[in-house]
Amino acid sequence: MSALTAKIITVGTELLLGDVVDTNSAYLSAGLAEIGINLFHRETVGDNHDRLLAILGEAIESADIVITSGGLGATSDDITKECVAEALGLPLVLDGHSLEKIKSYYLRRGTEMTDNNIKQAYIPLGAVVFDNDYGTAPVLAVKTKKGAVIMLPGPPRELCPMFDEKIKPWIAENFSDSVILSRTLRLYGIGEAAAEEKIRHLMDSCTNPTVAPYAKTGEVVLRLTARGKDKAECNTLIDGLEEKIREILGKYIYGTDISGLEEALLGLLKEKGLKVAFAESCTGGLAAKRLTDLRGASSVLGMSVVTYSNEAKMKLLGVKKETLDTHGAISPKCALEMAEGLFELSGADICISVTGVAGPDPDEGKEIGTVFIGVKSKKASRAIPLNLSRGSKERSYIRELAVNAIFCEALREQRQF
Ligand code: ATP
Ligand code: MG
Repeated sequence: MSALTAKIITVGTELLLGDVVDTNSAYLSAGLAEIGINLFHRETVGDNHDRLLAILGEAIESADIVITSGGLGATSDDITKECVAEALGLPLVLDGHSLEKIKSYYLRRGTEMTDNNIKQAYIPLGAVVFDNDYGTAPVLAVKTKKGAVIMLPGPPRELCPMFDEKIKPWIAENFSDSVILSRTLRLYGIGEAAAEEKIRHLMDSCTNPTVAPYAKTGEVVLRLTARGKDKAECNTLIDGLEEKIREILGKYIYGTDISGLEEALLGLLKEKGLKVAFAESCTGGLAAKRLTDLRGASSVLGMSVVTYSNEAKMKLLGVKKETLDTHGAISPKCALEMAEGLFELSGADICISVTGVAGPDPDEGKEIGTVFIGVKSKKASRAIPLNLSRGSKERSYIRELAVNAIFCEALREQRQF
């Protein structure tokens, strides 16, 4: 089968006015490239019936797969579905399943469902409905002579996961005689450029499977993608490449197909039946926030105390006044005493503290990005000095990096990587 062609149409007057930056196009483009679909054109059109209809008509003629973004909402300026139905000569019909889903969505949120929400349950006759797990508008696909028109909602928090989880596999299943599978390896402790340099030969020479690095805040993600006749064949291809990568970068790899360090930590602690506790100064509770963003955190997080002031450090954690007077709060000694105090207070198996300068101003004469992590467990008692201002001196960036380091140290209490 020759490679399919696709066209992306992003819908929304706010995109044309420059009020909203069209990130969806870039996201969809990268995803299509990954599954081997050729994209030759992208278009943006306002919420205007005639212009959208004209562009849709032309796209359906010229491309196999047409993907629209936006205009699936409940208000009268949301017209994408109506225009697609019109362009394909299909009536809109009420979809009972979608109506039930929308009703229960509002019930769960405890808000009133209005009449115009029912509009979202209408679909072009014969459309495939993908339940939207991230919002109310169902994601729709209508098969056409050449391929399909796929309609995704505009908010990126809905579009991105729905595209990855439902649409990419659906396209591969329906329009390709091969399947596509990806696996992500997550690395900590090495920068993107350094990681890339070490596996450059693999990036250049491998066409199936492929490997591509992405930089995330303070970590690197490697995405390995294979195309094969079935999942098993893809997995075998990816296994081979992963082995080669692990030979080179193995000591930095902390997880496979997970969302980040917090997920790795959650999984490990659950498996071992251990609890962690945090004493946070410069991160102000961010470690607890990131861990408790994950479902199931209650079984592994003992407590987290935000001891921002010196008084709190002394009162809650028993940090010595003398330590603060002589070494300051931003010191390895303070970090260690915080962790030791927390160990007493919480009874958790692994206690991690953090103290440092997130900026924008230096503190105690110490540079922005100077951070100390304290670790106290049955077998460990140590303080780790960090300098986190390499990439940026931005406050939120430094705090995220500090939390990454907290999770990393907690992980290292139980396993090597
Ligand atoms: P809703 O139910 O929220 O109305 P929708 O499918 O109708 O969803 P739009 O109304 O087009 O989508 O857009 C909703 C929001 O999504 C916009 O306010 C905008 O912030 C964001 N958005 C829309 N299109 C894009 C895009 N191409 N790139 C980035 N963000 C976008
Ligand atoms: Mg809308």
